[in-house]
Amino acid sequence: MMYNKTIFDLSAKGRCGASPISADVPDFQLPDDLLRAESAALPEVTEVDVVRHFTHLSQKNFGIDIGMYPLGSCTMKYNPRINEVACRLPGFARIHPGAPPQYAQGALQLMHELQSYLAEITGLDVVTLQPAAGAQGELTGLMMIRAWHTSQGNPRRKVLIPDTAHGTNPASSALCNYAVETVPSNDRGTLDLASLREKMTGEVAALMVTNPNTLGLFEKDIAEAAEIVHQAGGLIYLDGANMNAIMGIVRPGDFGVDVMHLNLHKTFSTPHGGGGPGSGPVAAKSFLAPYLPSPIITKSGDQFFPDYERPQSIGKVQAFFGNFGVLVRAYAYIREMGPDGLKFASEMAVLNANYIRENLKGIYHLPYDEVCMHECVFSEKSLPGDLRTLDVAKRLMDYGFHPPTVYFPLIVKGAIMVEPTETESLENCDDFIQAMKTIRAEAENDPKALTSAPRTTPIARADEVMAVKKLRLTADMDG
Ligand SMILES: *Cc1c(COP(=O)(O)O)cnc(C)c1O
Repeated sequence: MMYNKTIFDLSAKGRCGASPISADVPDFQLPDDLLRAESAALPEVTEVDVVRHFTHLSQKNFGIDIGMYPLGSCTMKYNPRINEVACRLPGFARIHPGAPPQYAQGALQLMHELQSYLAEITGLDVVTLQPAAGAQGELTGLMMIRAWHTSQGNPRRKVLIPDTAHGTNPASSALCNYAVETVPSNDRGTLDLASLREKMTGEVAALMVTNPNTLGLFEKDIAEAAEIVHQAGGLIYLDGANMNAIMGIVRPGDFGVDVMHLNLHKTFSTPHGGGGPGSGPVAAKSFLAPYLPSPIITKSGDQFFPDYERPQSIGKVQAFFGNFGVLVRAYAYIREMGPDGLKFASEMAVLNANYIRENLKGIYHLPYDEVCMHECVFSEKSLPGDLRTLDVAKRLMDYGFHPPTVYFPLIVKGAIMVEPTETESLENCDDFIQAMKTIRAEAENDPKALTSAPRTTPIARADEVMAVKKLRLTADMDG
């Protein structure tokens, strides 16, 4: 039976979930002007009501702990529980971010070491851990680029962005007061160097590029692109959201990148399906070090401390040190994996994506038929009749899979973007492939199975536009 109650439906007058002991301190009467006139409209429920209610709600959701979550570009890998244990250790979980450095040496050391691991992995020199997400890392990196160009006498006017880019790239550029110019991709789905050459003028502050790009393809000409941009005085910003494909295999600093962000919640394993806290550290070449946000965690002798004496810094981009809990998880993950483990993870992520691509090729249309990196992109092109990508995605839910990313990247009409990640076994990949094949057969023989999907979920097809534009989080149905 479908559980469909609100906590208010369970409420009964006088019911109570706690039995506080009577206070042994004198009563204190708050002044009248601080007291509310009527009691708050809170549900009156028992402890067991509360536990069952929230357990029911949790079962309406889908998460990586339930099944495969091949959401392209999001790297929904399984997040090892050891990371959760580490970040909940009282010394990490209960430390106050304002604690004087001498009382926070362990936390500062962890951040200092994480900075150096990320510098090593990216092949860059300096790292800030402050930004709270990839998008904020982008803005931080662009602000550093603007500060550097300004120090050279001209902040420049625009940023070049390939047409495969994630929407946050142009948004961050606009926030940083840069005009955006699109660089089209060639017919192999990668940067078109001729077009880049043409657009690369003295007005361009940076090329903002994702590698591997959002088609899951490695930008093979990246070093040459970097040379074109550098020769005209521009910088290379790398959107590092797809780092899960290349860890320990190639370092962005070695292919010409000047500054980039990482998404710790994607590549370095923090649960992020529910929009919880993330972390988007920014790594840069040393000439950009003066502009990094403050503070940077520094070491002097055997002491660690946050360095605020940085007059050219772009300032703070986040309270205190950023999302420290995510930093602890990433640190635990990197230490647990080690350099060989990280490399192996990337190799397996790439292998899984190619396995799925090869097995579904010819069954679903593959717009760019190339060996891919950690994700592969199909399209709706070969679906019969009026069936669309959305119908396939919804039907997958009935087979127990989270749908892939759909309708992105924008240059593929009806894109279906599959990123299995390295944490899915061969058997899980096979199950996914089988479900996709079954759905493709249903598309021919029983199209209603697709158009009426999903049938096994708590709600069927939500009006997604309405849900975004008129989001209502309350249960009272009037007004
Ligand atoms: C996820 C993602 C971003 C944005 O990162 P957030 O951490 O969600 O802000 C940017 N670019 C690409 C390619 C991404 O996949």
